[in-house]
Amino acid sequence: MTLTEKINAQIRDIADFPKPGIIFKDITPILSHPKLVTEIVDWFVEKARRDEIDVIVGVESRGFLFGMLIAEKLGVPFVPVRKEGKLPYETINYSYDLEYGSATMEIHKDAIKKGQKVMIHDDLLATGGTAFAAAQLVKELGGKVGNFTFLIELGFLEGKKKLTLENEAVYSIVT
Ligand code: IMP
Repeated sequence: MTLTEKINAQIRDIADFPKPGIIFKDITPILSHPKLVTEIVDWFVEKARRDEIDVIVGVESRGFLFGMLIAEKLGVPFVPVRKEGKLPYETINYSYDLEYGSATMEIHKDAIKKGQKVMIHDDLLATGGTAFAAAQLVKELGGKVGNFTFLIELGFLEGKKKLTLENEAVYSIVT
């Protein structure tokens, strides 16, 4: 089996979660398979080495799961981007529109050093709004976005278009 097939076999589709009409891709079964976890981490580590990444930024909350493992394996810092009001120290924030209402993401103001090349990582790419917000935060702190990585990309939502306006690389294991 290819890595894509192994991941597909462990993704659970949950109907009407968290709202009616949404089919939620549940990645938690993957976490019960340590050998598969290692293969996934290695896939992302290769993308980090290819693009000479200095820092891994993980997006709350499922972006923390693999984000921290990638950073540890590479021996580089991990930085969390979180929803409004969760980070304890001084933050900068970025707000963006959702289908109904808006959301705000935050990063600690000292988390990225000027010129550092960053991987923005999350479990799933849908419209791209969340990853785009993380990228704006990184850039505001003087970092460069080296690439975006996801386990899953929902291709029909065209989130990739939103992320590649400045030619950043986007890598997803499953589309
Ligand atoms: P976007 O901002 O529209 O690209 O949505 C991506 C964000 O929503 C990510 O942080 C995902 O973790 C989360 N998300 C959206 N749909 C799903 C899903 O079906 N499974 C898991 N996470 C999802």
